[in-house]
Amino acid sequence: MTRTRLALGALISAAALALAGCGGTDPSSASWHGAPAQSGFASGQTGGTEAHPISDSTAQAGRPAASASATPSSPASASASPAASASASSDGIMRQTGGTQVALTFDDGPSADTPKLLAMLRQHNIKATFCVVGVAVQEFPQYVQEIVKDGHTLCNHTWKHDDKLGKKSADTIRADLQRTNDEIRKAVPDAQIPYFRHPGGNFTPTAVRVSRDLGMVSLGWTVDPSDWNTQKWKGDQMTQHIIATVRNNTKPGGVILSHDGGGDRSATLAAYKTLLPELKQRYTLIALPN
Ligand SMILES: [Zn+2]
Repeated sequence: MTRTRLALGALISAAALALAGCGGTDPSSASWHGAPAQSGFASGQTGGTEAHPISDSTAQAGRPAASASATPSSPASASASPAASASASSDGIMRQTGGTQVALTFDDGPSADTPKLLAMLRQHNIKATFCVVGVAVQEFPQYVQEIVKDGHTLCNHTWKHDDKLGKKSADTIRADLQRTNDEIRKAVPDAQIPYFRHPGGNFTPTAVRVSRDLGMVSLGWTVDPSDWNTQKWKGDQMTQHIIATVRNNTKPGGVILSHDGGGDRSATLAAYKTLLPELKQRYTLIALPN
């Protein structure tokens, strides 16, 4: 397990560590996410109490139209999944399920921890959405197959978690997202990939448009327990932080962001052992519609 993590870390560390957004400086865990950085498309927002500046801005700040009551559709979203498009806000980013159901989303995998999460989800018969990274798909194609076989939904999280991809040219963004989709379909030839989540939530209008052209709806979130921030919380402290944040902030229609890859996810797994039965009792948990 350590060996695979190191191998994956070696693949992406050079690029990832140089990046800002929510990526940065956590070489010990080979994480894509480290100390919160101040740059990026969505920087400078301080809309909430959570430690993750990106998520705060994505979830609630600065965008008056960003709510579940967005207009049902727009001509521009015609190429993406109609069900998902219906829940997107005027900026093209879907942050809520559009109903009362709650969606669990897991980012940055697959990783060696993914099968453990899949087993827990299976045990409770809960479906989720996985935002996978191309290089991780390349390393663990069998877990992508398991994700699909279990009835979960896939989401493109870029080739190697480039937090600044959205600032690059449309052609560069398109090539990155297409390469990631191609890698997913190497593992699962007929895979549906109806969502795109920009690393760090650093969506730009160009990234939203390009992903829509490729048939994907940009996917934000409403709840972020910052389980990637292993610098700030460790061990059981992190587990309790995740449990409390999800427990206290989840509302009907919410989309919960957590991570099954990109670093040591043992605290996330421990948290969801408690959270899964609890959330299932309170809400209808869904895989986002394909
Ligand atoms: Zn990520």
